[in-house]
Amino acid sequence: ADLGEVEARVSVCAACPRLVRWREDAAREKRASFADQPYWGRPIPGWGDPEPQILVVGLAPAAHGGNRTGRVFTGDPSGDWLFASLHRVGLAIQETSRHAGDGQRLVGTRMVARVRCAPPENKPTPAERDACAPWIQREVALLLPTVRVVVALGAFGWGGALEALDGAGVAVPHPGPKFGHGVEVEMSGPAGPVTLVGCFHPSPHNTYTRRLTAEMTDEVFLRARALADL
Ligand code: SF4
Repeated sequence: ADLGEVEARVSVCAACPRLVRWREDAAREKRASFADQPYWGRPIPGWGDPEPQILVVGLAPAAHGGNRTGRVFTGDPSGDWLFASLHRVGLAIQETSRHAGDGQRLVGTRMVARVRCAPPENKPTPAERDACAPWIQREVALLLPTVRVVVALGAFGWGGALEALDGAGVAVPHPGPKFGHGVEVEMSGPAGPVTLVGCFHPSPHNTYTRRLTAEMTDEVFLRARALADL
């Protein structure tokens, strides 16, 4: 399979009944402020450079963010924070990511969610997490020839990244290294070294409380950029 085929296939996945209901209900009952917009209401494929040096791994789409716009991290507060940082460090050509036709483009970077459907309260069940694992694994395996750095957002993204890298033939240590902001793990992969970098998730909870500041976010992506030689 190639990346386009994986994107097409994941877009129609219906393996998790609770999430299928949730994503479709959110689309049907879309907020009045989105009433005039097309509403995706399906799984969210990876997005960005098809041959990236940097891969960003998030948790899952937001109900009225990616689930609405059809593009990962697009149209919700976490995405606003993330894209602003990527723009400041030169990895995104615009500072905002509002909708699929806004002209935004990532530079040498691709983003994926570990779980591809919006879960209630941003909490997939362990069974849903495991059901979705093959999607990120397929994508990471296809991207590994070029990926040098994986930035994991939060412990959930970190776990998904380690699992997917392991499945794609990267020498992941067992037991897996612990997540932390700024933690780096260099591993050898089939096409050269791959460094996993941890970053607190840019959720409103973390950014409003200043657990994650703009400076801390920029530092991680500047480091990723340097590691990726971009
Ligand atoms: Fe399919 Fe993943 Fe969505 Fe479950 S979460 S329905 S496995 S795309």
